[in-house]
Amino acid sequence: MRMCELLVGLPTVTVLGVVDLLPLAPITVHIETLLEGRETCNGCDQTATLKDRDPVMLTDLPVFGRRARLVWLKRRWRCPSRSCRVGSWTELAPEIAARRLGLTDRAGRWATFQVGCHGRSVKEVAGDLGCDWHTVNNAVVAYGERLVDDPARIGQVTALGLDETLFVKRGRWRTKQWSTSIVDVRAGQLLDVVEGRDSAPASLWLAKRGQVWRDRIRYGTLDMSGPYRKVFDTMLPDTTQVADPFHVVKLAGEKLDEVRRRVNQDVLGRRGHKDDPLYRARKLLVMAHERLDDHASGKLTGLLKAGDPNGEVTTAWHAKEAVRELYAHTDAKLALAWVDQPSADMRDVSCPPEIRQLGRTMRRWRTQIAAWHEAQVTNGPTETMNGLAKRIKRVAFGMTNFRHWRVRVLLYAGHPDWSKLATVTP
Ligand SMILES: [Zn+2]
Repeated sequence: MRMCELLVGLPTVTVLGVVDLLPLAPITVHIETLLEGRETCNGCDQTATLKDRDPVMLTDLPVFGRRARLVWLKRRWRCPSRSCRVGSWTELAPEIAARRLGLTDRAGRWATFQVGCHGRSVKEVAGDLGCDWHTVNNAVVAYGERLVDDPARIGQVTALGLDETLFVKRGRWRTKQWSTSIVDVRAGQLLDVVEGRDSAPASLWLAKRGQVWRDRIRYGTLDMSGPYRKVFDTMLPDTTQVADPFHVVKLAGEKLDEVRRRVNQDVLGRRGHKDDPLYRARKLLVMAHERLDDHASGKLTGLLKAGDPNGEVTTAWHAKEAVRELYAHTDAKLALAWVDQPSADMRDVSCPPEIRQLGRTMRRWRTQIAAWHEAQVTNGPTETMNGLAKRIKRVAFGMTNFRHWRVRVLLYAGHPDWSKLATVTP
C-alpha cells in the first residue's frame, strides 16, 4: 500500500484510488490525509466529530507523460459542544496544497519558477498543466509575492534610477496607465514598481527604506521630468541627479521628428506621404550618422535638398547629432561647457521653434545632463537598462491587475533569491 504513496510523492497521505478513464484525460489520484491521533477543537479542546468530506480537485504536475489531477477528500470537522463558538472547520495540509489555490504545492512552486525565472507566459504554463490561466496566475502571485517582498532582495544601492513605465492600456479608449520603475542602475536590478508617474508613490517608497539606506545613494538617474526631479530633491537632496542619456537622445530625436512633420505640412500642405522626400528620409534622419554609409548619406542629402528648402530639418538633424556627440566626450570637468555650447546654438533665432525648445530644455537640465560624465563608469548601465525595459515590457503583455503585474515583473527582473522558492509559504 505505501508504494502508492511513494509514487505520488506525498508521505502524509493515503491513496484511495487512481482513476484513468480516457487516454488523453488527466490521470486522477484520489487521496486523503493520514489521521494521526484525534482531532481536537481549537476553542474548547474537545474531540471533534467528522462532519463530511469536501472533494477538492487540484491540478498537479504531469506524471508519466500524462497530465495529473489530485482529488483531495478534505475532512470537515465539527465541535460537539453546543456552547463552543468554533463550530466547524476544514483540515489544512499545506504540503498538499496551500489554502485557496487550485494547484498542488509542488505544481505551484514549479509554475512560479517557469513564469518568474524563465519568463514564460502564464498561458503557456497553464497549457502544460492543462488548467486555466487564473489557476496558474493565482499560484504565481501567491508564491511569488513572498519572494519579491523578501527584504533581503534589496541590497545597498549607490545609483538609483526612476523611469516611467507603461503598465497597461485600459478600456475602450486604450487609456494609458503608467507606473514608475525604481531601479538599481549599476546592478540592472528592478527594485520595485509603484503605481503612477507622479512624485508621491516613489517618494513614499524611498521613505520606507530608511535614512541609512538613502544616504548611501550617490547618483539618481531620471528622464527630464519634473516629478522625478521632485522625488530626488525632497527624498535624496544630497544625491547627484543625472539625466539618463537614453532620454536626452530620445528627446532630440522627437524634436527632429516634429520639425520634419511640420515642414512637410508647410511645404506640401499635407501629412507625410510615401512619395514625399521628407517622409522617405524619416528613418535615415533618426539613424546615427556614423551608421550611414556613403550611399545612405548621399541619399539623405538628396532627400533633404528636395524636401527641406529652408534647411529647418537639416538644422534639427545637426542638433540631434550634437546631442549624441555629448556622450562621446570623456572629460567630466569640461562636461558643462560641452552641454552649454550646443544648447546655446539651439536657442538661436535662426533655429526652428522645436529646436529652440530643445535648447531651453537642455539649459534647464544642464547640470543633470553634464553629471552623466562624472557618474558614468562604463557605457554599461544604459544598455543594462534597455535590456531591463525590454524584460518589463515582455511581462506586461495583457496584465491588467497592478499587484499581479508587480509580482510578475519583479520575479523576472528584480533578482529574487530563487533558492528560497522551496521554503516560502504562500
Ligand atoms: Zn469547541
